[in-house]
Amino acid sequence: MADDCIFCRIVAGELPAERVQEDEHTIAFMDLNPWTRGHALVIPRRHSKNLYEVPEEDLRHTASAAKHLAERMRDRLGCDGINLLNACEPAAWQTVFHFHIHVIPRYADDPLRLPVQPEQASREELGAVATELRG
Ligand code: AMP
Ligand code: ZN
Repeated sequence: MADDCIFCRIVAGELPAERVQEDEHTIAFMDLNPWTRGHALVIPRRHSKNLYEVPEEDLRHTASAAKHLAERMRDRLGCDGINLLNACEPAAWQTVFHFHIHVIPRYADDPLRLPVQPEQASREELGAVATELRG
């Protein structure tokens, strides 16, 4: 447990949270600032800072718990779809430094919109970045 980590304190029961699903390795609870009705976070019980540092075993358990929670949202909340989101490092919007996956129920009439308008890249640009990644 990391002493200064609010999610570790939720795992330990020292901070309140609306828990909705738990198993040996993970817990899921309602996000305090939901993007839509039912927005929840799934976390491994064991502390790690983010995607770079989470052990693969905890990643697997957390991804699996996120899938179960998504199905629960479909069945209990009647949502029309799901977004999974992970933020790794502040540049990618991470604000709490205990690995977590957002499970965001989507509704056909909800107000969420993509924050970007992607434009098609040239074959040359795609090839250049692919070469960097493969190298
Ligand atoms: P991120 O920006 O991906 O690191 O997400 C952190 C999320 O944690 C945000 O959506 C916050 O609303 C949420 N959050 C922060 N503190 C709490 C808390 N005590 N209980 C529930 N959710 C929280
Ligand atoms: Zn933690």
